Amino acid sequence: MQAYDYIIIGQGIAGTVISHQLREAGMTVLVINQTNANASSRVAAGIINPITGRKMSLTWRAHDLFPYLWDFYSQLEKQLGIKALHLQEIYRPFLEVVEQNDWMGKSAEDNFKPFVNSVNAPAEEGIHAPHDGLALNQAGWLDLNLLLDTYRDALGVHYREAAFREEDLLLTAEGVEYEGVKAKGIIYAQGYAVGESKYWEGLPFRPVKGEVLTIELDRDFERIYNRGVFALPLGNHRYRVGATYDNHNLNYEVTEQARKTLLEKLEGLVKLSPKVVDQRAGIRPATKDRRPFIGQHPDYPQIFLFGGLGTKGVSLAPFFGEQLKNLLLKGTKIEPEVDIYRFF
Ligand SMILES: Cc1cc2nc3c(=O)[nH]c(=O)nc-3n(C[C@H](O)[C@H](O)[C@H](O)COP(=O)(O)OP(=O)(O)OC[C@H]3O[C@@H](n4cnc5c(N)ncnc54)[C@H](O)[C@@H]3O)c2cc1C
Repeated sequence: MQAYDYIIIGQGIAGTVISHQLREAGMTVLVINQTNANASSRVAAGIINPITGRKMSLTWRAHDLFPYLWDFYSQLEKQLGIKALHLQEIYRPFLEVVEQNDWMGKSAEDNFKPFVNSVNAPAEEGIHAPHDGLALNQAGWLDLNLLLDTYRDALGVHYREAAFREEDLLLTAEGVEYEGVKAKGIIYAQGYAVGESKYWEGLPFRPVKGEVLTIELDRDFERIYNRGVFALPLGNHRYRVGATYDNHNLNYEVTEQARKTLLEKLEGLVKLSPKVVDQRAGIRPATKDRRPFIGQHPDYPQIFLFGGLGTKGVSLAPFFGEQLKNLLLKGTKIEPEVDIYRFF
């Protein structure tokens, strides 16, 4: 029987990050993943945004997450020999003068200062920005498909393309056994699908469907523009535009309604006419309390969870993956706000 330190189920951003962190620490891992073009990490724009939402609030734990994530992904892309991380300003147009005045004040506060480049930067030609806008620092995006594909290839024989069947998982005194492999433990990193596991069924998941468009415009913008929707430049006049939020229809179907909503919002942001070239839907592994689900199963110590990354998997995964790694390696406690122990 083949032996590994850990089996990881799922190779979205969660499975990729924790796998890399464990391997860097000298552990061996087997990743079992069933590729799905609609997996959240495959559909996501990969945006890294320190100040978000209608109210423009600071991302939860931004001061811890952001310094960590830039280092983490730059090192990973260097090791893989790819360019997946793009540091790029995110620009939010002001619709009223009062917003600009507000941000003049806020940008001087310690909380916001490291994330604000400018509060009166003019937008590029072709953007509706009647009162200039807020240009954010430490922002950008991660090319998730490129990263995930390259990482899967780098795993080589330590990657299995297959659907994991929980009924075949055997819990033993030493750890787990699964299809000819034994390991000290198993880490569930299956995105929203983890809610179907009998080990995690009681957790308060709250998956949210999201749709995104790929469009073409007549020109290439330098920045990511964001107000109501984001328009993320992919190069060659292409943009990703998103996203919708729907917690009722949890399926992968693309809808006319979502396309209409996104295009209407885009009209308020961009003056140019878009041509839609693609539309995709995915399901975010969100949670009721909007905090990740990380840690060790209270009854089965060989079973672990790395999930619940919600709407911000790219920003959250490196910092909290490090905590899971430290739990596995040294028994260090996961911080209570994200530890699944909060529900047991
Ligand atoms: C429309 C949309 C836009 C988004 N935009 C952003 C954004 O701009 N920035 C950001 O940070 N986040 C964004 N997100 C959220 C982000 O996608 C998630 O936080 C993150 O991708 C979750 O990663 P994950 O690895 O936990 O799950 P997933 O990406 O779902 O990965 C789970 C993996 O496990 C596999 N799997 C599931 N079941 C099994 C099984 N039984 N056997 C084997 N394999 C299995 C799946 O196929 C998949 O490969 C967006 C999400 C959506 C839907």
